[in-house]
Amino acid sequence: MIRVENLHKKFGGFSAVDGASLEIRTGSITGLIGPNGAGKSTLFNVIAGVYAPTSGRVIMDGEDISGLAPHELFHKGLLRTFQLAHEFSSMTVRENLMMVPADQSGERIINTWFGRGKIREQEEQLRAKADEVLDFLTISHVADEKAGNLSGGQKKLLELGRTMMVDAKVVFLDEVGAGVNRTLLGTIADAIIRLNKERGYTFCVIEHDMDFIGKLCDPVIVMAEGKVLAEGNADSIMQNEAVIEAYLGR
Ligand code: ADP
Ligand code: MG
Repeated sequence: MIRVENLHKKFGGFSAVDGASLEIRTGSITGLIGPNGAGKSTLFNVIAGVYAPTSGRVIMDGEDISGLAPHELFHKGLLRTFQLAHEFSSMTVRENLMMVPADQSGERIINTWFGRGKIREQEEQLRAKADEVLDFLTISHVADEKAGNLSGGQKKLLELGRTMMVDAKVVFLDEVGAGVNRTLLGTIADAIIRLNKERGYTFCVIEHDMDFIGKLCDPVIVMAEGKVLAEGNADSIMQNEAVIEAYLGR
């Protein structure tokens, strides 16, 4: 689904991504691991249109998508999750979900040229969709809670839920399990697996927790110093000499 070809991203003279090439197969849950500073988040940000690449290409389903803006990628079904913006913390969980389609599409709020009846109809559809998403994620009980009051793990589920408000094809998750307790980590893992199996989402997941990666991801791609160091299933990766050395070398 996604092919990254010899990608470079420089900040000043420093190459955060230094000639990375990799593929994310359609239907996979691909893991991306590596020591801190390896360039994982920068790679995500280039793929997701947050940064333009210094050189190299990103191909999605055969089409060159390098340097497209996040809202253009959003229309193609390529999403990355973001931490909930501070200004939405006083809105309820359901409201946070309901605003995703208008918010992310680069359009401004469903505008005045719709009559009032039309707006109400749209709002009802959005509300029904949001409730379906909350049900899927097993957090219906916090629908009317202010988003700012959620636990860390519930916030992560809500971030994942935001991708379900639209027709996502490929979703990039950057440390979705960071600081999350075991129980909710399991809930997040289950949601990812179900989205993959039942809705056909392709995932690329950055995560440090190797249990999580091992349970979820095949293949696992290892980055170090801006490059791809190794690729394989979780077991083979953990026995790979170069991978062990990259982690110990820091
Ligand atoms: P990872 O996610 O693998 O920990 P990052 O992609 O966040 O790594 O960072 C890779 C390297 O690029 C690090 O050395 C980091 O300090 C540097 N870096 C990341 N973003 C920027 C930026 N916006 N400006 C300058 N340097 C950056
Ligand atoms: Mg990172």
